[in-house]
Amino acid sequence: KLPDPDLSKIQESLANVKHKVLVLSGKGGVGKSTVTSHLAYALSEDVDCHVGVLDIDICGPSIPQIMGLQDEQVHSSGSGWSPIYVDDNLCVMSPGFLLASPKDAVIWRGPKKNGLIKQFLRDVDWGSLDYLVVDTPPGTSDEHLSIVKFLSEAGTSGAVIVTTPQEIALLDVRKEINFCKKVNIPIIGIIENMSMFVCPKCKKTSIIFPPVENGVSGVAQSMEIPFLGSIPLDPLIGKCCDNGNSYLQLHPDAAGTVAYKNISQKI
Ligand code: ADP
Repeated sequence: KLPDPDLSKIQESLANVKHKVLVLSGKGGVGKSTVTSHLAYALSEDVDCHVGVLDIDICGPSIPQIMGLQDEQVHSSGSGWSPIYVDDNLCVMSPGFLLASPKDAVIWRGPKKNGLIKQFLRDVDWGSLDYLVVDTPPGTSDEHLSIVKFLSEAGTSGAVIVTTPQEIALLDVRKEINFCKKVNIPIIGIIENMSMFVCPKCKKTSIIFPPVENGVSGVAQSMEIPFLGSIPLDPLIGKCCDNGNSYLQLHPDAAGTVAYKNISQKI
């Protein structure tokens, strides 16, 4: 079999990217993009840790809005497309940066999506990174198959699966786990998002979703997958995301910030 020149170029372009982490979820709306961006913020708190965020949710990129980059456009330089820098050690690439307006819709079929993902890996000047955190669309779609194929040459470090503690979301977690097993991606672990609600006024904890037998950690245990931790449902997380701010930076002592920092140490 002849070597695919694109795959060797991807391998070359990502040669200095140590850990490539896919963020997956069975369903939309469970907080996958929020978790992707905030794990990146948490990892990049160490100024020596260089982090890239790659958004491959081509039809619904929300990373630019969440990270306050909705007015940014991609620039090319001699060494390829330049990612957008949020900080000296944190950079981002998203299909949103290619759209004339955030309101524009991308309606593309598989091969075109495949081409853009290839370009993001081959032509973006990622430089040296400790982590490339990849936000994917919900479920398992063309985009997942593309990224898995392209990263297979450069070595995928693993996947984290994000879920809410609802039976319906957990059912889809099982599908994500099976997908990872089928395509041979190691599962780093499961993150439970919106686990419980702590009232900002009275500090009382409330369980919002109907409790699942054994909880998310129990499901992880029964499937022999590491449970990475729980992030509470906190209206301040939603507010920070809507305003393009880092919740970790604005609320350094919040329970969610502590959770993000703990989880980031496990990936
Ligand atoms: P997905 O990428 O899975 O579709 P998002 O990251 O876009 O989900 O999150 C969906 C919505 O939930 C967003 O409005 C986001 O701000 C909010 N959200 C995510 N996680 C939390 C949380 N732990 N607490 C409160 N709101 C959250």
